[in-house]
Amino acid sequence: MKAAIYHEHGDADVLRFEDVPTPEPGPGEVLILVKACGLNHLDVLQRRGPALIPGYALPHIAGMDVAGLVAAVGPHAELVTASEVREGDRVLVNPAISCGHCAACVIAEDGKCERATVVGGNRDGGYAEYVVVPVANVHRIPDGVGFEEAAVLPTAWMTAWHALVDTADLRMAESILIHAGASGVSTAAVQLARAAGAFVIATASTPEKMEFAQRLGADVVINSATDDIAAAARAATDGRGVDVVLDHVGPAVWDASIYSLAAKGRLVFLGNTTGNRASIDLVYAYHFGLRLLGSDPYNRHEFPRMLAAYWAGDFVTPIDRAFSLAEARAAQERMESRAVAGKIVLLP
Ligand SMILES: [Zn+2]
Repeated sequence: MKAAIYHEHGDADVLRFEDVPTPEPGPGEVLILVKACGLNHLDVLQRRGPALIPGYALPHIAGMDVAGLVAAVGPHAELVTASEVREGDRVLVNPAISCGHCAACVIAEDGKCERATVVGGNRDGGYAEYVVVPVANVHRIPDGVGFEEAAVLPTAWMTAWHALVDTADLRMAESILIHAGASGVSTAAVQLARAAGAFVIATASTPEKMEFAQRLGADVVINSATDDIAAAARAATDGRGVDVVLDHVGPAVWDASIYSLAAKGRLVFLGNTTGNRASIDLVYAYHFGLRLLGSDPYNRHEFPRMLAAYWAGDFVTPIDRAFSLAEARAAQERMESRAVAGKIVLLP
């Protein structure tokens, strides 16, 4: 089969369009003919190196978010899942694979599974014509939903869902500040927060991205390139500050996140795209009773709940641009540019 694979770390030109052996499904696994694969920042970060996920090794085929057709079902797959999966089914993939047996898995905290693997993270992913995953990780795509949309939603929506529902416990009529409102996770978060009945303030760095965030449902959009984010967030909440901040950006906006919060506000943080260290004014933080909540990996039982909500809701996952598999290099270069609004998808 064809795959976009890399054998060394570096810029996007290390990606090669090559023939590699087609994988075969083992017991409890399915072979998927990849129809679409969404890009994520992990793809670019691990290509640059070093590894972020334990067990990652070169050569590597990236691609966490996969949608396609079940091409073959391995032995004993019917024992793994109550719902039958058949050849020809249209499915998407939950990229987080847990072992099901370790101490974390048996108490349904499989996000902390000791033997977790991630499709496209530390095992081969969807930048290829075929990929093998456990049958327990595939979910049917409803009629009327295309492969492209199905392939760009899993990681962005699951990340936003876990952060807002599980970690933040966002309530109706609360206010929330969502950084980088045109990014994949934030486009999901803006829509989820709005559906939850929250007052949504988003940031974006260009007029185009501001309009994009507004179309998705943000009540107020702050220009992060020109405005003082914390001052603008306070102005939008009658000086009070917001109840929740969703920060997947990290150090570049950390102070803005802290000073945007109302007393006893919750800062939900889940990313480090601008670095891995931040400092904090301790007196300010405890005086105002700020809550710092790291958003940990999601658990598998959350995935079908998120999907059911997505299918039932009036949600969208905007696609910035689609590329062929042979254009994986250009797709990643597009991702690394700051012009992206929405998700990028590969169509093998
Ligand atoms: Zn486990």
